Amino acid sequence: MPDQKRDYYEVLGLNKSASDEEIKKAYRKLAKKYHPDMNPDDKSAEAKFKEVNEAYEVLSDHDKKARYDQFGFAGVDPNFGAGAGGPGGFGFDMGDLGDIFGSFFGGGFGGGFGGGRRADPNAPQKGASLRAGLTVTFMESMTGCDKEISLNRAENCPDCGGSGAAPGTSPEICPDCRGAGQVRVQRQTIMGSVTTVGECPRCRGRGRIVRTPCKSCGGNGQVTRHRTIKLHIPAGIDNGQTIPIRGQGNNGTNGGPSGDLLVVVSVRPDARFRREGDDLYLEQPVSFPQAALGAELQIDTIDGKVKYNLPAGTQPDTVVRLRGKGAPNVNGYGRGDQYVTVRLEVPRNLTADQREALRAYAGAMGEGTGEDSGFVRDFFGKKKKKK
Ligand SMILES: [Zn+2]
Ligand SMILES: [Zn+2]
Repeated sequence: MPDQKRDYYEVLGLNKSASDEEIKKAYRKLAKKYHPDMNPDDKSAEAKFKEVNEAYEVLSDHDKKARYDQFGFAGVDPNFGAGAGGPGGFGFDMGDLGDIFGSFFGGGFGGGFGGGRRADPNAPQKGASLRAGLTVTFMESMTGCDKEISLNRAENCPDCGGSGAAPGTSPEICPDCRGAGQVRVQRQTIMGSVTTVGECPRCRGRGRIVRTPCKSCGGNGQVTRHRTIKLHIPAGIDNGQTIPIRGQGNNGTNGGPSGDLLVVVSVRPDARFRREGDDLYLEQPVSFPQAALGAELQIDTIDGKVKYNLPAGTQPDTVVRLRGKGAPNVNGYGRGDQYVTVRLEVPRNLTADQREALRAYAGAMGEGTGEDSGFVRDFFGKKKKKK
């Protein structure tokens, strides 16, 4: 990761007014250019690839984009208004790049992109994993909740069972490549005769051809289906964490397993609570008499209000810890603490009676208030009529 992060728009070569479509287009172009499979010996390409993916992850998500536009990197940092990323937090690891490619590019690269050309085009292949974003409120993230996600995914065509051949027929082995999906091409060059191996143009690398395509899927073997997936968001989920749902991605081909659905959870910032790790932070307004004399406060926690006896003489910005009142740990390891910062509030508008009481207090403390005569001294010691 470079020390100095580049602006996400700059990474994608766009300006801030770029549309969703322009962002997607720029991403596809750069992701292809820097994909590690295309640059096997170039470490800097891998770094660029990650940079491009990170930029796209933010700019393609309306929530994150809005936060980035407003706050810059801090707005999309997993620590912003919430805890650290935790498992599957913000960013990509190289491990699931193949899946990401699958979900963005579908079968457009013959399914071989990202994983290298497979030897047998008829071997079972796992379906692409899909990513979906889900936004929950802060309180939903504290208590856990049940949600639904709507998505389109590729499923095996129910009419042909995924073969692509019309019912009653079956695909045939491609006569040009005899099922290998690849053909050798001999070319004469200045260096002599060169043999290259390329995708079989007749079956487009599939090794099989369908003479009578299935009407439902057009011979493709898969159809796009709109599905609603129910999922449980566990209590304690933090902003940017991913929930993997096994087997709910695209169906596999040739009998391969389905991909996964990766749900990236965004937690809306809360007006009262700020989260860091499993600890929560809250500011508690306190009046001067309460701080000076002590008071029984009702402090907001995620469980509701709790009583707290503020000791007499509490100083401004004192931090009080409420043990075990923080966020639940998403893995079930108890709860964090809640830290409450005492904020001293100075009243802006006082009634005549209140002013009188404060003057009496100042007098008792042996202080002048400077306003008694109706004049205040300005910087140069001259008397000036008060507004
Ligand atoms: Zn079909
Ligand atoms: Zn062929």
